[in-house]
Amino acid sequence: MIIAIPKETAERENRVALIPDTISKLVENGHNVWVESDTGKASSYLDETYQSAGAEIITDRTKLFADSDILISIQTPPEEDLAKMKPESILICFLWALQNEETVSFLQEKKITALGMDAIPRISRAQSMDALSSMSSIAGYKSALIAANELDRYMPMMMTAAGTVAPAKVLVLGAGVAGLQAIATAKRLGAKVEAFDIRPAVKEQVESLGATFVEVPDLDEESETEGGYAKELAEDEQERQRQVIHEHAQQSDIIITTALIPGKPAPLLITKEMVEDMHAGAVIVDLAAEQGGNCELTDPGETAIKNDVKVIGPLNIPSQLAYHASQLYSKNMLSLLNHLIQDGKAEFDFEDEITLNTTITHQGEIISPMLKDN
Ligand code: NAD
Repeated sequence: MIIAIPKETAERENRVALIPDTISKLVENGHNVWVESDTGKASSYLDETYQSAGAEIITDRTKLFADSDILISIQTPPEEDLAKMKPESILICFLWALQNEETVSFLQEKKITALGMDAIPRISRAQSMDALSSMSSIAGYKSALIAANELDRYMPMMMTAAGTVAPAKVLVLGAGVAGLQAIATAKRLGAKVEAFDIRPAVKEQVESLGATFVEVPDLDEESETEGGYAKELAEDEQERQRQVIHEHAQQSDIIITTALIPGKPAPLLITKEMVEDMHAGAVIVDLAAEQGGNCELTDPGETAIKNDVKVIGPLNIPSQLAYHASQLYSKNMLSLLNHLIQDGKAEFDFEDEITLNTTITHQGEIISPMLKDN
């Protein structure tokens, strides 16, 4: 099969979908891999390295879309490119199908088989394909670095001839993939870290990283779905949570928010009043900026200064660590391709949970249960 990697065109996108290492494995398995020229440049993977790995460098973008069997990218390519793809060919990328109904209808009409890397189920068998977790882990790591960089204080305790400096106090809200990585990174930088999550199951993980778990009284024990994701809190529970967070926020130098409930807008955890009660120079990094933000004052993509507090809403953080983000995405993609391709041909067995959930459109039909149930 011909597997093609187009150059990413989205703003702020430096990652590349397949790195040379992965390509050599695909070539060994008998596939032809086409890479648009300079596709990996922004993430430090150069055309020469792709060629050495067995890829063919293509300058004609139209040919790349029109003649390939599997098109692999990070972001969904623009519609003018998708229009060139042949029926029955396969597209694999972050599709965000629920938010991009028009693109999904377009792919369905064109009879393109589209798979969403964001739709891979978070189950043990699919762990090696879970690109969202790979990217969240990077975002969590980098969020602590962004916060440290913006803070006008030390992170670690410092004992100097001029006196002792107390360590920075960091509060992490949401201790899923990104949150745990933010905790670990802030701890490595020497900060005093506390964290809160509505799933009591993560208390042990938070503590094993050396952070303190913030307790909110009387939260529903059943705050987790069967899939391990959080459920939305009842209104009275949200109020109790806000009171506790308010108290802790006043003591914090940095707050990193990562709270997410799949398919819902980001839960509001930090109100305007809480920001007003934080000290001057404090920093908030809101990882949920793309879903509207966990902080009421977040302006996605911007750094706003409110009451002398910096409120940062970074977008596409993984792209800032493009080399390793590409490496991890590429490994996740290879696992998915190995799962799909049998004897040199892509097989779509919808009895299989991974294939069923990841496939958005196939032969002009919507397959994804997530879309059908919506
Ligand atoms: P995750 O599902 O692994 O973790 C989210 C956590 O939030 C869960 O542990 C959940 O229990 C918790 N949560 C839900 N409601 C809460 C509440 N009211 N209070 C406290 N905790 C609550 O998700 P993740 O993969 O770690 O992603 C976290 C966030 O980071 C998401 O919003 C995601 O979109 C974002 N993200 C941003 C970037 C970026 O570049 N800005 C990159 C990757 C991920």
